[in-house]
Amino acid sequence: MAVAAREVPHVARAEIDDLALVLRIDGGDAAAAFEGAQRFASLGEAERIYTAEAAPKDPMRWSLSLGSIGGTAIRIHVTFLLFLVWLGAIYYRQGGATAAWQGTALIVLIFLCVLLHELGHVFAARRYGIKTRDVTLWPFGGIASMEQMPEKPGQELIVALAGPAVNVAIAIALLLWLGPRLNPQNLTQIENPAVSLAVKLAGANVMLVLFNLIPAFPMDGGRVLRALLAMWVGNARATELAAGIGQGFAVMFAVLGIFYNPMLIVIALFIFLAASGEAAQAQLRAVAQGTLVSDAMITNFEALGTAATVNDAADALIRTTQTEFPIVDGTGRLRGVLTRDAMIKALKERGPDTPVLEVMQTDIPTVRARSKLETALRSLMAKRPVVGVTDGEDRLVGLLTLENLGEMMMVQSARPEAPRGPLSNGPWGSARG
Ligand SMILES: [Zn+2]
Repeated sequence: MAVAAREVPHVARAEIDDLALVLRIDGGDAAAAFEGAQRFASLGEAERIYTAEAAPKDPMRWSLSLGSIGGTAIRIHVTFLLFLVWLGAIYYRQGGATAAWQGTALIVLIFLCVLLHELGHVFAARRYGIKTRDVTLWPFGGIASMEQMPEKPGQELIVALAGPAVNVAIAIALLLWLGPRLNPQNLTQIENPAVSLAVKLAGANVMLVLFNLIPAFPMDGGRVLRALLAMWVGNARATELAAGIGQGFAVMFAVLGIFYNPMLIVIALFIFLAASGEAAQAQLRAVAQGTLVSDAMITNFEALGTAATVNDAADALIRTTQTEFPIVDGTGRLRGVLTRDAMIKALKERGPDTPVLEVMQTDIPTVRARSKLETALRSLMAKRPVVGVTDGEDRLVGLLTLENLGEMMMVQSARPEAPRGPLSNGPWGSARG
C-alpha cells in the first residue's frame, strides 16, 4: 500500500504532512513501516511517529538540493528526473528531437508553476510564524513539509488559498499576454503540438487550480472547506465534517476508478487515509485543549548526568524501556536529549567513551508543568523526539513523548464519558497491538 501511495500520479500539490510522510516510507521495508504506521493511525500520529524514527536515518534520500529560498530548501526527487527522461524519450519516439525538447520544456515549466504554488503556501504560512523545512518536487507534484498548519480558521484559509492563488495569477498573466491571439478551446489541448507553449501553460495552471480545489483533504480544497466550516461550527466539528466529505469523495473516486481508471482507486485510498489521519489529529488536539501538561507527562524516567558517556547511556537504554534520555545538569536543568538512534550512531562511529554532551540533541523545547498540553503538542508535531517539562525554577520534572500522549488518548477515549470521534472505530487498545 505504501508503494501504491508512492505512485499516486495526481496530486499537483500536497503540503500536508500525512501525505509527505506516507511518501517518505520509501525504504526497503515499506510494507512493514506502513503496517506499523497503520497501528497508530487511529491516534492520528501514525506518520509522525514513523518519521520521527525513520527520517533521521534517511533524510529525503534520493533527492537533490537546488538551493534554498527564505530558509526553505528546494529539492528535486531523483524519480522526478527519471520521469523527465522517460517523458523525453516518449516524445522523441513520437515526434523526434523537437517534440522531445518541447514536451520536456512544458513539463519543466509546469513544475516550476507547481513549485511557485508550494512557495505560495510556504510564504503565507511564514506570515503566521510557521516554518517549512523543504519543498520537494516529485513526479506527481510538490510537497512542502510545514511544521504545522495554523489553527485559526482565517489563517488556515489564507495558507490553503495562497497556493492556488499563485496559479490563478500565472494563468491570468499568460491570458492577458496572449490577449486576442488566444483560442479558448486550445487551453485543454496540452498534447497538441500546434498549440503554443504559453497557451498550454495557461491551461495547465487552470487545471492545477481546479484540481487542487477539490474539497478532499490532501488537496487545498479540503483545507479551505475545513477552515470555512470552522468559522461556523468550531474546529473539531469542522474537521469531522470535512473529513467525512473527503471520505465521500474517496468512495466516489474509488467507484469511478473501477469503471474508468484504476489509478483513481489509488487516489481514493490516499484521500481516505489522509482524511482519517486529519480527523484523528483534530481529536487529539481537542483532548489536549482541556488537559494540563502535568496530567499527561512521564514522571518516572531516568536522566543522565552531564558527565555521562555514551556507554552509560547504552546501559540505561538496556536497563529501562526509555528510548530518549534527558541530560540534566547539577541544578536539575535540561541540557539536551540523547535519542536511541543518536546513541547507536555515536557508539558505532565515535566509541563508548564519547561524552553524551557531544552527541545529544540540544534544541529540545520545554514547557511548564502547569501549562496547557496543547502548547506541548505543537512542539511534538514539529518533530522533536521529546518535550521537557519544567517546574517554576526551570528544573526538569517530566517528559512528554508522542507515545505517552498516545497512551493518554487511549485512556481518555476508554473512559465512558469521553467523546469518540467518528473515525476512531475499534477499541483503542487494539490499535497498539
Ligand atoms: Zn497547494
